[in-house]
Amino acid sequence: MKKIQMVDLKGQYATIKERVDSSIAEVIANTAFINGPEVKSFQTELEAYLGVKHVIPCANGTDALQIALMGLGLEQGDEVITADFTFAATVEVIALLKLTPVLVDVDPVDFNIDIEAIKRAITPKTKAIVPVHLFGRAANMDAIMDLAKEHNLFVIEDNAQGIGSNYTGRDGKKTKTGGIGHVGTTSFFPSKNLGCYGDGGAIFTNDDDLAHTIRGVVNHGMYVRYHHDVVGVNSRLDSIQAAVLRAKLPHLDSYNKARRDAARKYTEAFMSNKKIITPIVCDSCDCHVFHQYTLRVVDTDRDALVAHLNENGIPCGVYYPIPLHSQKAYKDERYNEADFPVTNAIVKDCISLPMHTELEDDQIAFITKTVIDFVNK
Ligand SMILES: *Cc1c(COP(=O)(O)O)cnc(C)c1O
Repeated sequence: MKKIQMVDLKGQYATIKERVDSSIAEVIANTAFINGPEVKSFQTELEAYLGVKHVIPCANGTDALQIALMGLGLEQGDEVITADFTFAATVEVIALLKLTPVLVDVDPVDFNIDIEAIKRAITPKTKAIVPVHLFGRAANMDAIMDLAKEHNLFVIEDNAQGIGSNYTGRDGKKTKTGGIGHVGTTSFFPSKNLGCYGDGGAIFTNDDDLAHTIRGVVNHGMYVRYHHDVVGVNSRLDSIQAAVLRAKLPHLDSYNKARRDAARKYTEAFMSNKKIITPIVCDSCDCHVFHQYTLRVVDTDRDALVAHLNENGIPCGVYYPIPLHSQKAYKDERYNEADFPVTNAIVKDCISLPMHTELEDDQIAFITKTVIDFVNK
């Protein structure tokens, strides 16, 4: 058995080495390092893949969220509702812009923002909702868009973990996540489902005016050279990263399928065990691209399980160990512990197993056996 990795970037690189190496060499030969033709081509190809009108590349997924919020013209004190259980970047940018983050609980089954909790959190100051397609599973976008319409709110999808996921709406139509709300964002951090070889990110929208605004924001607030109409930022995807992403984008669907296949094998092995709650892997549905494969364990010392797996050469992760509302930076006296029963429980019993495009059957068999033996002990 090959050594088990949490994420196997080397194994994946080996399968696309020629194309990646020649693309990078070409950028260097042309010296068009910033805003070169590779960036524009990648933008067009990603627009086609996602089925969105506008992709605006930027420097990373955190910038993408910040710039999306800047583009919407929100004002200091406006309330933005997001999930208590996500990576900190989601709430960080809200606070940075002097907007008021309002963290709410998540659903115990899909780990995504809880619709009833959003309803309870809406006030006259609420201006936006930021659902996160956590671990690659599409959030309940129909319900979120309904609430947004009813209360006149913007929806910004944090799709950093969900790129390539399909959301099936109540009309039966499939839409790629990130293209459903008013604006969507993603990250091309190396370990993400579509990762580059450094930092990268992008913003998506179908709104022409918003796209125009955002194209200025990413470029120092300039719409006409050296005329700065708004306070902007400098956030660019560099040409070498765009070249890597162009080499990888045609494989994204097969990468996501490899993740889903691995997830299905994990879930089949764990399904009958009462102490393991698995994520749902539906056969026909491609609403989950398994950025992470995250279990919950019952009546089991999660931290001891982590230690046991590590001792057996199995890397694993706890995403995320602390609810955002309990983090020093985001504490707020308005929060009440009783409002976060789900997040407070998940942070204690969740564990993410190795997940990448190169997992092999003997590795999955060893991982599942090691987990099951421990929880049955
Ligand atoms: C990775 C991630 C981000 C931030 O992306 P960076 O490119 O690392 O800045 C934001 N939100 C979520 C949910 C993420 O997983």
